[in-house]
Amino acid sequence: MAQQQCISQLGGWEGYDVESCAIEVHRGVSWCIVHLSVQPDRQRWCSSCLRPCRAIHDLEQRRIRDLPVFEHRTVIIFPRVRVACPHCGPRVELLRWLDPYARVTRRLGESVARLCKVAAVLHVARHYDLNWKTVKELDKAYLERELGPADLDGIEIIGMDEFAIQKGHRYATVIVEPTRKRVLWIGRGNGREDIRPFFELLGPERCARLKAAVMDMNTGYRLEVQARCPNAAIVFDLFHVVAKYGREVIDRVRVDRANELRSDRPSRRIVKGARWLLLKNRDSLRPGEDVELDELLAANHSLFVVYVLRDALKDLWAQRQPELAAKAWNSWYRKALRSGIEPLRRFAKALRLYLPGILAHCRYPLGTNLIEGINNKIKVIKRMAYGFRDDAYFFLKIRAAFPGVG
Ligand SMILES: [Zn+2]
Repeated sequence: MAQQQCISQLGGWEGYDVESCAIEVHRGVSWCIVHLSVQPDRQRWCSSCLRPCRAIHDLEQRRIRDLPVFEHRTVIIFPRVRVACPHCGPRVELLRWLDPYARVTRRLGESVARLCKVAAVLHVARHYDLNWKTVKELDKAYLERELGPADLDGIEIIGMDEFAIQKGHRYATVIVEPTRKRVLWIGRGNGREDIRPFFELLGPERCARLKAAVMDMNTGYRLEVQARCPNAAIVFDLFHVVAKYGREVIDRVRVDRANELRSDRPSRRIVKGARWLLLKNRDSLRPGEDVELDELLAANHSLFVVYVLRDALKDLWAQRQPELAAKAWNSWYRKALRSGIEPLRRFAKALRLYLPGILAHCRYPLGTNLIEGINNKIKVIKRMAYGFRDDAYFFLKIRAAFPGVG
């Protein structure tokens, strides 16, 4: 009896006594099976209205999982009390160690959620021998409690970016506070109406306090910010402009050049296979690749031009003085138009329409690596947490990865 009291106290199943405890082996797995009985005449509370309530309405036998005891997986079998609440009617009893209708104890749930911070849902499920859906729901509930609603006070600058969910068929938008490196909001879609809920949440006063919004050249984002935030400068970030340049100029010129070389198969193969070599930053090339790149550029003039102008485009973002940035832009623009390379000319003309947003970065020189970093992190989270077709959970994981600094 004394021993069982000890187990009961260790177990922390408040409101219950240990009736029996046995180790059983099923299919090579060792289980600790604990039977609990209800303590009579105890003060109870209604889980719905939280008022005290002594009368029991009925009992329902439940079987839930708890933390492992040493090497044994643990199951608790006990009658769950429904109190006869005078205000709510029959309701499950409020217990500190078990949420209403939960399949695992609160401490097992917290342990699962802690492990989910560093491991994929499927691995956590295997570790605790739980269903992956249970693990996902536990982590989701924990994150919802832990993160709560985002604090939107005192924000002066926001960064906005879209990312693909489900192989590029659907998009979502993430809004961040770059200075504090935290995610403020995530929502489905990448259109103007899709991001409106964020500005509604922010409200007119806080919208008016926004000084800048950093984004890619998404018209919907720009129009919504301009309509809602009268004092916010639109700033285009380098990462997206350079990525667009890579797709629309470098890739295009490379494919055109490969087609020109149809009669020279070895050269054609080199040009065709040089996609990553051309898109990578020069300082992240592997040994030997720099020589390969130099040879490629020397033999293909149009590729050389678009490559050099990409670096010159990046230099624009290094400028901190608007006059110098404007001068650098004019010089870049002239070179692009004179190049005679059609994809480059087209890109330059389109970019010119966004010039104020490019020059605005001088006033708000934000590290664009944050947006790039978030973009990359989202891809990792997608691999770990998605595939479950649960956007809300996916978005919570992204928020949890960028909780903010300072
Ligand atoms: Zn009640």
